[in-house]
Amino acid sequence: MPVKKTTAKPKVQNRDFIRVGRSRIEGTGVYAKRKIPKGTRIIEYLGKRVPVSKYLVELKDGKPVSMYAFRVTEGTVIDGGRGGNDARFFNHSCEPNCESYVFDDRAYLYAMRDIVRGEELTFDYKLQSATPRKITKADKEMYECLCGAPTCRGTMIALPKRIRKQSS
Ligand SMILES: [Zn+2]
Repeated sequence: MPVKKTTAKPKVQNRDFIRVGRSRIEGTGVYAKRKIPKGTRIIEYLGKRVPVSKYLVELKDGKPVSMYAFRVTEGTVIDGGRGGNDARFFNHSCEPNCESYVFDDRAYLYAMRDIVRGEELTFDYKLQSATPRKITKADKEMYECLCGAPTCRGTMIALPKRIRKQSS
């Protein structure tokens, strides 16, 4: 078969939906370049795959804590800080417009509702400790949430429901 050089544009790519810019929440953020219908797969969360055990050792070694680690399986994180794409710039929000899904050990960000052009794209990080332990006040402060949503829980950490009830 002759090798055909394709000049056709690839189907909708990540970059078609989003642009990276200064966030209204914090640091760098991602914005909708166009209307994004609910259910659209916006981008795959890419980065170096690191075993959780190795990742924990690196944290202990004093390497900076990466906010970009996405736990994709029980034993693996995807570190968007290494070899990652624009997915790592999605900010956290307690009232997000995107959500993450894992299929076949790959992580994707989807629009969980219709998104208008210019909206900042966010998902709920639901941060969890890599090792089972109680979440402290210091933890919550370390991962303070600045999303500004009326329902903001004050932290990017996923809190058990009973704790949320007690504190509100
Ligand atoms: Zn919040």
